[in-house]
This record gives sequence, structure tokens and C-alpha cells, in this order.
Amino acid sequence: MALTFPVYLDYHATTPVDPRALEAMLPYFTARFGNAASRSHAFGWEAEKAVDRARGQLAALIGASAGEIVFTSGATESNNIALKGLAATARGTRDHIVTSVIEHKSVLDVCRQLQTEGWQVTSLPVNREGRVDPEDVRRAITGRTLLVSVMAANNEMGAIQPLAEIGAITRERGVLLHTDASQAAGKIPLDVKALGVDLMSFTGHKMYAPKGVGALYVRRRAPRIDVAPLFHGGGHERGMRSGTLNVPGIVGFGRAAEINAAELPAEAVRLAALRDRLFERLSAALPGVGLNGPREGRLPHNLNVHFTGVEGGSILMAIDDIALSSGSACSSGSVEPSYVLKAIGLGDALALASVRFGLGRFTTDAEVDYAADKVAKVIAQLRGRGAAARGARHFSTSST
Ligand SMILES: *Cc1c(COP(=O)(O)O)cnc(C)c1O
Repeated sequence: MALTFPVYLDYHATTPVDPRALEAMLPYFTARFGNAASRSHAFGWEAEKAVDRARGQLAALIGASAGEIVFTSGATESNNIALKGLAATARGTRDHIVTSVIEHKSVLDVCRQLQTEGWQVTSLPVNREGRVDPEDVRRAITGRTLLVSVMAANNEMGAIQPLAEIGAITRERGVLLHTDASQAAGKIPLDVKALGVDLMSFTGHKMYAPKGVGALYVRRRAPRIDVAPLFHGGGHERGMRSGTLNVPGIVGFGRAAEINAAELPAEAVRLAALRDRLFERLSAALPGVGLNGPREGRLPHNLNVHFTGVEGGSILMAIDDIALSSGSACSSGSVEPSYVLKAIGLGDALALASVRFGLGRFTTDAEVDYAADKVAKVIAQLRGRGAAARGARHFSTSST
């Protein structure tokens, strides 16, 4: 099959909408445009029915019931509602949150904000494989701990966290467990009951639904959990998230969840094989290719590697026909090594010389082979150039 350019290998950043999800959405922009909160006519009832179907589709993906799904604008909002909304209900009885150093900014920065309001935050380290040790969670919990928030899987190096073990500990200690499942949902099996999770965040655009729609699972039984709303208004979503629902987006999100649930087992096997083939091809072509993150217990569609002996910033600049991400983040104009890669023990140079490959539903064998060959060629060239520059420097110093 002919390749089309640029090749997209950045599925952790966002995914395209699945055409089947788009098809389900389209009538809800036009003929079925009703407001799901309109109780007095058929337009409203039709919209409400569609939203409820989506609620069920999403709940089925994670072993929840439909009434436990709160629709939001995405995972940033879901994480904010979960952490701030729970903090607001604690009313001075508890003032401690346990989280990890590799969380997404939308958890880390909320924790930082809560610290300015008097909350204590313990940020647990991860091991070289990028995993939180459940025993660290146990040791961090005190009588004042309200909540543990640990992501289901990391967005940079794909490490799947031991949620079931953490959930057993939070259960035993009477502490709530929130997880940001933005990268894991639809990619690996998740069951909120088996995991002992009380709140779970999702976002549509990481799972083949549109941007700007997300959800928060909020446990309703054993225990029933209350979160205070961030927005006040019409009392939508059981009062937890006021605002007219994005009906077309929600319909697409529900359909996408249903497709993910149906295709997950085969897709996980296909993508893990493609991912392994990518790593093997890179390793066969080049020395000095190191895996970032775990070998086992990693998202099937994630590969993150570092290349020794190259200038970090130059890798992606030399690749203009493949969409990839690097081990750096631009913060206020300067290039900083990724805090996630530093947390697994990489030095600044190797973190900057890292590349994240995110494979997905529309990734083909030919694209993976192209990417492996292209990246190998570019790395070899950059190393050659670096060696030549060092040689020249060496010559000029020894001749004076
Ligand atoms: C993308 C992502 C988010 C943010 O989701 P939005 O819907 O874009 O706000 C949060 N957490 C993780 C792990 C993510 O990958």
C-alpha cells in the first residue's frame, strides 16, 4: 500500500475521530439538535436518549453503571473536578493527597494549587521502569489522607501502573482512589470494581472521539462519592457539572467507546507486535538505542527510546515527514528535558535525545517500517556529524 505523508505516529497527543463515531454524531448537529435538558418536547427527549446511550457505552468500557458517568469537556476538566471537587467536600477533616511525580500537568498543577490552599501533597517517585511502588503508597497514607491519585498509564513512556494493588491498599485504609485513564482507556482492559477505583478521568480525543468531550466516573455505591462542582448553573450531570451537554460530541464519544471495547483485544495484539517490530528494526540498524520505560506492562501502542551520542534538539528537526514527539517540553520558550523521563533516571542529555512513537488504529506495517528506517538514517547522520565536529575540534586543539 502506498504511504501518505506526513506519517502520523503521535497518537498519545491526539487521535483522529473514527469515521464510525463521526457517522453516529452527524444527525445530532442538524435534525436531532435538541437540548438534552429540554424536558417538554421530543427534541429534548431524543437528545437525552442519545446521551444516556453514550453513558451506557462508556460505562460498559470500564465495568461501571451508566449513572456513574459525568460528562465533561476533557480529562483536564475531569481531573480538576475530581481533585478540587473532593477537596472541597473534605471540610477540614482531611488535608493530604498522595500522587506521583509522573502525573499529567492537569493533576500536578491542581495539586500545586491545593498546596497553596493548605493541602499537604506527597508526590511518590517511580522506579526505573516508571512504576509507582504500591508499598510507597501504603507508607504515604496517614490518618489525614483523603485521596490517592495515580494515573492508569503514562502518556510518555507507557508504563501501566499497579492500580489493583494500590486500590487494595486505599480500600483497606479508607482512602479514595482517583486515576487519570486518558491514555489507558480503550487500550487496555479497565474495570473500576476489580481495580478498586473510585474516580476515573477520560478524554474523547485520545480514543478516536472528538476533542472537547470527556468524562469522569464517580462511584455511586460502596461508597457513594460526592464531589463539589466547579461550575454552578443548571445542575446538569447530577449537579456535578452544570452546562448544556455537547450532545454530538457525547454521541461520538459513546460510539468510540463501544468500538474500543469491541476491538481492544485484537488491536492490542496488533499494535504491540508493530511496536516491537519498530523497536527491533531500530535496534538492528543502530547501536546505542535504549528503551525508556518498561518492557512488560506497557501500553501496547507506546514506544519511547533514547539514542546515545546525539544532540537532542536536532532529531525531530531532521525529520519533517513523520509526526513524532520528543523527550522535551517547551516551557516558557526554553527546551526542558521531560520530567517523566528524568523521573525514571535519565540524565538531561538522554531525555532530550529521546523520541516517543505513538501507534494507533490507522497505523500500518509500511508506516512503521518507513519510520524505523528514516529515524535510523537520521540518527546515523547526526552521529556522523557530531563525530566529525569532535574530530575537527580535536585536530585544532592538538595543533596549537
Ligand atoms: C491528554 C491527557 C490529558 C488531558 O486531556 P484533555 O482532554 O486534552 O484535557 C490528561 N491526562 C493525560 C494522561 C493525557 O494524556
